[in-house]
Amino acid sequence: MLGAPSALLADTPQADQPLAKTKQVKITKVEVLHLEKPLKERFWMANSPIGGFQPKASRLIVTLRTDAGISGHGEGSGGGADLFRKGFADLVIGEDPFMVGKIWEKMFAVTYGREPSTRGWAATNVISAMAPIDAAIYDIMAKSAGLPVYKFLGGYRDSVPVYVTGGYYREGKGIPELITEVRGYVDQGFNAIKLKVGGISGGFSVEDDYQRVKAVREAVGPNVKLMLDANQGWDLPTAIQASNRMYDQDIVWLEEPLHWYDDVEPLKQLKLNTRIPLASGEHELTRWGARRLMETGAIAVMQFDCNAHAGITEWRKVADMASMSYIKMAPHHEPVLHGHLLASIPNGYILESFANPDRDPFWFEIYDRKPRIEKSILYLDNTPGFGIEFNQKALQQYGTKVL
Ligand SMILES: [Mg+2]
Repeated sequence: MLGAPSALLADTPQADQPLAKTKQVKITKVEVLHLEKPLKERFWMANSPIGGFQPKASRLIVTLRTDAGISGHGEGSGGGADLFRKGFADLVIGEDPFMVGKIWEKMFAVTYGREPSTRGWAATNVISAMAPIDAAIYDIMAKSAGLPVYKFLGGYRDSVPVYVTGGYYREGKGIPELITEVRGYVDQGFNAIKLKVGGISGGFSVEDDYQRVKAVREAVGPNVKLMLDANQGWDLPTAIQASNRMYDQDIVWLEEPLHWYDDVEPLKQLKLNTRIPLASGEHELTRWGARRLMETGAIAVMQFDCNAHAGITEWRKVADMASMSYIKMAPHHEPVLHGHLLASIPNGYILESFANPDRDPFWFEIYDRKPRIEKSILYLDNTPGFGIEFNQKALQQYGTKVL
């Protein structure tokens, strides 16, 4: 009678008897490049221009080298560069990149330990600096397996839908200029466009925004998807008023409608008073913040950005919770990184991209090779890792070596 369990146990490998001996890989070197390029103009959102009042594009590129000869590159939004001048990279030297779960926790632990105060590391900068390190680790692991990142993660599809973000406010830009801009996107093959609204602080009333959106809808026709991004520009009553005014323009989602200081609880009120699906999450730093946002039941679209915050390891956890909550993922920014992630999950919705080299010069300048976007679809191939090659001239031109 006791035979059956022992037979089962006999097939169970013991912890001290590994099935195969694998070579321990170690991270031996961390290199960090900080890219900056001034933008030609101010692309205004509701309350602030992209890249600051003296606008610039910014990017961190972290390269991890290993004793196995494989290197990985990870891109971050530019935050946390300073930490690498203060010893942050020491946390990963000597670690095995395949133990990414351990490395992630080790980096995150400093946000609630003594390091931020003793070493001058702000917790929010730690979250930013983790992102490119974590991405570079996935690049190493995928390359070691000879797989593109999306297949290494467990691929779901090899292409993802893409939208273009535009419709920024600019001094002297009226509806005719806006129409010319969006017609340009349609001519480039895009069938989904996100516009900026919420510009009350810049003198744009709800009615002004409505007229902009309506003119765009009339110009692009009924078959182009339109999303609206208020970039936290409204209070609750205004957001309710605006979302109801915009409803007849067939809006796919309304993004970050409410002011930064109170953007979770009132979302429930907004949800009860609008018929447009709500999107948010690009400002969440961790899965805990993302959880609070999703637990409101108010959002249909989660926009957690692992290029800016906490990396792929955290994004996957957010995406898992989103799937359990019937929420779709549409991450903020960075098509290279997020393209692979959206292709690795069943609840991936759509990828953000930028079709204007003045708005996002790095997408156009820093790669010799990158995933192809055609007719609002990004295509991934079987190149191991992220499948990119950097343009070394552009890296030299815009890059400052941090480490
Ligand atoms: Mg946004």
